[in-house]
Amino acid sequence: MVDYDVIIVGGGPAGSTAARRASQAGLSVVLFDKARFPRYKPCAGGIRADVSNLLDFDIKSISQRKISGVTMFAPSGFRVDCVPEDRSMPGSIIKREDFDHLLLKKAAKAGVEIREETRIAKAREEESHAAVTTMEGEEVTGMYLVGADGINSIVAKSLDFYDGWRGASAMVAIEVEAEVGSSTVREICGEPSGYDADLLLLYFGGLSHGYVWCFPKRTVLSLGACCRQDRGEELRTAYEKWYAAFKDEYDIEPQILSDTGARFPIKPARSIVKGRTLLVGDAAGLADAFTGEGIPEAIHSGILAASALSKAVEEANPRALRGYEKHCKREIISELKAMEFMANMFFKSRKNMEALCRFFRDDSYANFLIAAGIGGLVTKKALRTKMMLRMAKKRPREAISLLI
Ligand SMILES: Cc1cc2nc3c(=O)[nH]c(=O)nc-3n(C[C@H](O)[C@H](O)[C@H](O)COP(=O)(O)OP(=O)(O)OC[C@H]3O[C@@H](n4cnc5c(N)ncnc54)[C@H](O)[C@@H]3O)c2cc1C
Repeated sequence: MVDYDVIIVGGGPAGSTAARRASQAGLSVVLFDKARFPRYKPCAGGIRADVSNLLDFDIKSISQRKISGVTMFAPSGFRVDCVPEDRSMPGSIIKREDFDHLLLKKAAKAGVEIREETRIAKAREEESHAAVTTMEGEEVTGMYLVGADGINSIVAKSLDFYDGWRGASAMVAIEVEAEVGSSTVREICGEPSGYDADLLLLYFGGLSHGYVWCFPKRTVLSLGACCRQDRGEELRTAYEKWYAAFKDEYDIEPQILSDTGARFPIKPARSIVKGRTLLVGDAAGLADAFTGEGIPEAIHSGILAASALSKAVEEANPRALRGYEKHCKREIISELKAMEFMANMFFKSRKNMEALCRFFRDDSYANFLIAAGIGGLVTKKALRTKMMLRMAKKRPREAISLLI
């Protein structure tokens, strides 16, 4: 006899989605999180338009601003606005304390037993079940286990999925919340056309494999910088240099509400299913190496996990979990690989970043593609293929030099 069908460790978007969907399928589910919600999580809070296809409820009530596109600043400083002509599917900006709390409350409403402020110290598997032990020494058993506990996953480490994210497999980031007031947010990030939506600003060139961002929240700017972990030593200096110039440009002196560091993985884990255990979201390494997004992938993997868990319970067969790996590879990992290709080409050198920004500025189809790709209106694989074909057609010599 076990305590639950499914134990989930971690109540971020991946864990709460897996929990809610599994509970809706009739499974008994317990979810542990070390935090009490609403909890702060360093995140720029950009949510792509196509996330609404994954969620079966509205997030309008917690959206801070409507987002219509992305503005890129090339290393030499020129500006490229990438805004899809069709504005019928805007993205949004959320605060993670609101977003994650909403998802967790939805899971509780679906029947999941939520245990907040309970840190899991270790996990183990037997032939017939899985088990976790809390920091207080309580042991809880389940038929299946989901590691949704982020980049430092204790589930993954306890069960030897991997021993951490080293070197180029993760990005390091600084995230700063800067209070400037609503009209200044609009002045900096508002669409120049006057259309009632804002833009996500990305600045390239200051970091060798990364960028600085400025994202609009209601009265706050999320400012930050990220770069590949193996280039991490330049992160703080590059951010500070950018920040000094940014304050000067807009003549502002923001009140800094928080200044934190965090990491996210950019290489999917080699294995995401073992025995009775699945990894989802950041614990499985499912974040985008080009845009830094991981929320859509976290939710998507949570949905796929719930479906595999429900099959495994129904068939009383842990081998049914293998379907999760197959679907993840086809629906999520292949998309992430397309973006890894884009990231490696774009961030390869300052020259590449400059050339691609120029291409996005001067070629209206390339501009459309990047806007639609980042906005989630076309698949990442389509973005990569169509962009390369367009480049080869319009700028064949430059296309070759980008790759060698
Ligand atoms: C600075 C920064 C900016 C980002 N900006 C964006 C963005 O704009 N858009 C986007 O889509 N993505 C963004 N990301 C990526 C995104 O934050 C992650 O991909 C996403 O949070 C992954 O969700 P998750 O549910 O897998 O993990 P998490 O959201 O990390 O949730 C893991 C949960 O597990 C809990 N936990 C951990 N260990 C234990 C334990 N031992 N016991 C119990 N509970 C535990 C934690 O408290 C946490 O609640 C950003 C990341 C960073 C670092």
